[in-house]
Amino acid sequence: MVSYKELGLVNTREMFAKAIKGGYAIPAFNFNNMEQLQAIIKASAETKSPVILQVSKGARNYANQTLLRYMAQGAVEYAKELGWEHPQICLHLDHGDSFELCKSCVDFGFSSVMIDASSLPYEENIALTKKVVEYAHQFDVTVEAELGVLAGVEDEVSSAVSHYTKPEEVVDFATRTGCDSLAISIGTSHGAYKFTPEQCTRDPKTGRLVPPPLAFDVLDAVMEQLPGFPIVLHGSSSVPQEYVDMINQYGGKLPDAVGIPEEQLRKAAKSAVCKINIDSDSRLAFTAAVRKVLAEKPGEFDPRKYCGPARDLMEELYKHKIINVLGSDGKAE
Ligand SMILES: [Zn+2]
Repeated sequence: MVSYKELGLVNTREMFAKAIKGGYAIPAFNFNNMEQLQAIIKASAETKSPVILQVSKGARNYANQTLLRYMAQGAVEYAKELGWEHPQICLHLDHGDSFELCKSCVDFGFSSVMIDASSLPYEENIALTKKVVEYAHQFDVTVEAELGVLAGVEDEVSSAVSHYTKPEEVVDFATRTGCDSLAISIGTSHGAYKFTPEQCTRDPKTGRLVPPPLAFDVLDAVMEQLPGFPIVLHGSSSVPQEYVDMINQYGGKLPDAVGIPEEQLRKAAKSAVCKINIDSDSRLAFTAAVRKVLAEKPGEFDPRKYCGPARDLMEELYKHKIINVLGSDGKAE
């Protein structure tokens, strides 16, 4: 058993309380390799933004859980070395799908876990979430739960259709499970293809897809039921057109990739939404930079020469999200 407190990590409780009061949101960036982690930490240290490092089950399988935990521990020290005196870094399990997985992460130094039982019937979701909460809270580890179903594909999580969260269920769910935050479904979606062309309209000038707006009425109703309770948005990448264009220009093929417009996320960040998950955007930035270098310099075979530019582009993306979308800069001196 390793406590996250020994690793210099923090749970989400104080982060979220401050974010709701301050009208901003904490970035939750997924990572599974060194370059991504370096970019996240550099961007957070430079902007003094609290940050949630997210590890999905797939990332855990890809990178090895022992290595990931030491990487997170190293990230705290790296942040200090970069001049961030009191780094506010949380290590969070994204989409935990069983009690055993959540327990293993708690025992292994994670400061926060998500139990996603949203695909189960309501009462079973409550029972499993409650079991995880009871275990995690003994070690002061915070728990995120989910009500409602997001569309899209993310590692092992996928659903063809979304079901909005029912506002009339949230009080009962939060009270009976004791969860610390709640991921809701209001039209965000996992992956780089958040909407089909049929769900969108097309901008007549650019020919690009314009996605349907998020269901802010559902968010408002949830907030009315649970005033001041931390709300989480998954699947909130914006799929920046510049990265999609770069990928397509240099031999890739991502036709009609579409995400959530940033102005909608800015609006959400000002509300009780205090954690916004961003994964696909950094995958796109990484891939765009690698494709560009390899296309322009076919003789290049030193991975540092293409992973380096990929890291730089991700760092730029993370800073942009922190400063211009979430507003979390300067919130953790
Ligand atoms: Zn998710």
